[in-house]
Amino acid sequence: MAVVNVMESVVRERLEFLLQDMDCCKCDKCIDDMMAMALNTLKPKYVNSHKGELFSRLDTTKYQNTIDIDVAVTKAINTVSSRPHR
Ligand SMILES: [Zn+2]
Repeated sequence: MAVVNVMESVVRERLEFLLQDMDCCKCDKCIDDMMAMALNTLKPKYVNSHKGELFSRLDTTKYQNTIDIDVAVTKAINTVSSRPHR
């Protein structure tokens, strides 16, 4: 499929950035859980990737600094890291 959710790469970037300051488990499983949790609370932003990487790049920077994303990502980090590790 040539349709991608730009929000996924934005959330991943913000998650990696915010996790630098967090003292919690950063294994793949926890990161995937945090990604899923944050993405579920955010509106997806789909783009046609046939338009090329440039388009999604521009979109990524446009959405990167919105406070909503940081709030959702921080909440996901706190929720996932506060529960017992499976
Ligand atoms: Zn973990």
